[in-house]
Amino acid sequence: MPELPEIETIKLGIQSIKNLQITEIYRSNHRLRIDSAHDLSSINTQEIVDITRRARYLIIKLSNQKSLIIHLGMSGRITLSPQFYKLKHDHFACQFNNGQWMIYNDPRRFGFIDLINNDDIKNHKMLKSLGPEPLSTEFNPDYLARQIANKNINIKTLMMDNKIVVGVGNIYINESLFDAKISPLRSAKSLNKKEVEKLTNSIKKIIGNAIEMGGSSISDYQNAQGEFGSFQTVHKVYDRANQKCFSCNCNIERIVQNQRSSFFCKKCQK
Ligand SMILES: [Zn+2]
Repeated sequence: MPELPEIETIKLGIQSIKNLQITEIYRSNHRLRIDSAHDLSSINTQEIVDITRRARYLIIKLSNQKSLIIHLGMSGRITLSPQFYKLKHDHFACQFNNGQWMIYNDPRRFGFIDLINNDDIKNHKMLKSLGPEPLSTEFNPDYLARQIANKNINIKTLMMDNKIVVGVGNIYINESLFDAKISPLRSAKSLNKKEVEKLTNSIKKIIGNAIEMGGSSISDYQNAQGEFGSFQTVHKVYDRANQKCFSCNCNIERIVQNQRSSFFCKKCQK
């Protein structure tokens, strides 16, 4: 599943459509998970004003004060291409006045595209209850300390809750907890002030590094130019069960928490 660093990479990769005008719209007959109630063909002739991101949602602002909100679900992909072949899983595409196409392909169709007024973005049902962005100043040790106080749930599962902080998916929380030397088994409320600070900084560092490296290419993620990210080459614990810890040479363990795999080093993470 593409996570925040992958979506940020796609966002950066499609900035070239800014200021271009949409000249043609294509929609397949298949429905996506949450189909827009709006007629997407109405965006024809609009110009792209800006491309931003909130959590794992791409927001493409148009010249008519409306925005496309795009979520890639499990397997969605956005590519820019001079050609458009209407492949089997291409569900949405638009052509621009420079001839380029932006194509949304999604074999499993868990993604969605919505069209809303700019004024309604903050209150969109998928965006309104999201916590802060991990790289924002709003996400800081004081904020995190307030969020984890009195919470008995394990710290790993809690940090994957989008209401606490967005975009810290399974790969990135596994790597962040290793970086902060905190066991995923710890209850959230058991973290002391220093550990909260360390975890906040580790999350910012790991997400920042992942964005710089173009995200992690696991399963079939590719960026808008069809290239793969390389963060998976520096995973220290994620998907490394029974391999040696780079710090202490112990075997990395794999356990399941809240139906997700957790990878950690028992010796380095307390
Ligand atoms: Zn270790």
